[in-house]
Amino acid sequence: MNYLGLDLGGTSIKGAVVTEAGEILREASRLTHAERGATAVVGEIAALMYQLAQGDRFAGVGLGCPGTVDDESGEVLYSCNLNWTNFDLRGALEKRTGYRVRLVNDANAAALGEALAGAAKGAHSAVILTLGTGVGGGVVIGGKLLVGYTGAASELGHMVIEADGLPCACGRRGCLEAYASATALVRMTKEAMAAHPESRMHSISADLGGVDGRVAFAAKAAGDAAGGAVVDAYVRYLAIGVTNVVNLFFPEVVAFSGGVANQGEALLAPLREQVRRASYGSAYAKKHVRLVPCTLGYRAGMIGAALLAKT
Ligand SMILES: [Zn+2]
Repeated sequence: MNYLGLDLGGTSIKGAVVTEAGEILREASRLTHAERGATAVVGEIAALMYQLAQGDRFAGVGLGCPGTVDDESGEVLYSCNLNWTNFDLRGALEKRTGYRVRLVNDANAAALGEALAGAAKGAHSAVILTLGTGVGGGVVIGGKLLVGYTGAASELGHMVIEADGLPCACGRRGCLEAYASATALVRMTKEAMAAHPESRMHSISADLGGVDGRVAFAAKAAGDAAGGAVVDAYVRYLAIGVTNVVNLFFPEVVAFSGGVANQGEALLAPLREQVRRASYGSAYAKKHVRLVPCTLGYRAGMIGAALLAKT
C-alpha cells in the first residue's frame, strides 16, 4: 500500500503518492487560495487527494503545514501564512475525505523526509538545517521527529548565538537566523560592498542582476579579500549554531538545504573544519558527525509527511 504526503503552503498545495520505501510514484499540485478561508482550503486539499488517489485507497495520509501544528489534537494552532488560529484541520479533512490525516510542521516534514529517504537515509539520527530567508530545521532521532510539547520543538534558527546581538524577525536578539540565514548573508555582503568599493563583489552582483547569497562566495572564489571576509564571518556564525546542534543531539548527520546550501563544498568544507574543532569531545565528533547537503529538494516535505503517516 502507498501513502499520500501533502505539503500545504500559503501559495500552493503539493501532493505525492509515496511508497513505503519513500519513493514518489506520482505528484500533483493545486493553488491554496488561502484568502478564500479555511473551508475552501480544505476543499482544495480534498480535491488534490481525490485526484492523486486515482480510485485507490491510501494506507495513510500525512500533511505538512507552515506554523505550529499539534498532531495530538489535530489542530493547526497558529499559521501566519494561512491566517489560521486553532483550526481543527484533521477534523475538517476527516469529515470531508474519511481519512485521519497526520499533521506535522512543514520544516519538520522536510527534515523527516531527508532523514528517512534523503541525505541521512540509513543514519540513526539527523538534524536538518535550512538556510533560506530564515533558518529552519528539524531533529530526527531513531526515525522519529523531535516535536516537543504540542509540536513546537526544533526552532533551531532561534537559538541565541550572541547575547544582545542583532535583532531577529522573531522579535528577540542574537538568534542564529539573524546571522546564518540567506537574508543575513545578503546584509553582510551589502555592508562589505559599501565599505569596499574596490571589491569584485560589485561587478559580480552586477553580472548576477543584484546582491544575493552567491555574490560573496563567487568573490571569494575569485580571490577577493572583502568577499572572503564575508564568507568567513558567515561560516563562523553558522559554525557556532551547528556546533551547538552537534553538542546537543550528537546526530550522525547534519544536512543542509536552502539557497545558501547550494554553495556545496565552498560552504561545507570550512564549516566541517570549524565545527569539528569546536565540538565537545571533538576527536569522536570528527569521526561520527557528517555534514552533507540535502538531496530531495522541494519533494522532501511531501515524502516526510507520507512517511509520518506510516508510523
Ligand atoms: Zn529569532
